[in-house]
Amino acid sequence: MNQTCPECEGTVQLAEPVRLSEIAQCSECSAELEVVNLDPVSLAPAPEIEEDWGE
Ligand SMILES: [Zn+2]
Repeated sequence: MNQTCPECEGTVQLAEPVRLSEIAQCSECSAELEVVNLDPVSLAPAPEIEEDWGE
């Protein structure tokens, strides 16, 4: 699904199913965004903590 980047209002693609605390990266400004709410889905800039979120 597509969401709007809170930093630049660009389009951010999220893999479904969207999970809470998932990290997505904005393709336009490269900001790392965390899923902070699921209903409705909303994004916030991710904290700058290195997490093991690789897949
Ligand atoms: Zn952005």
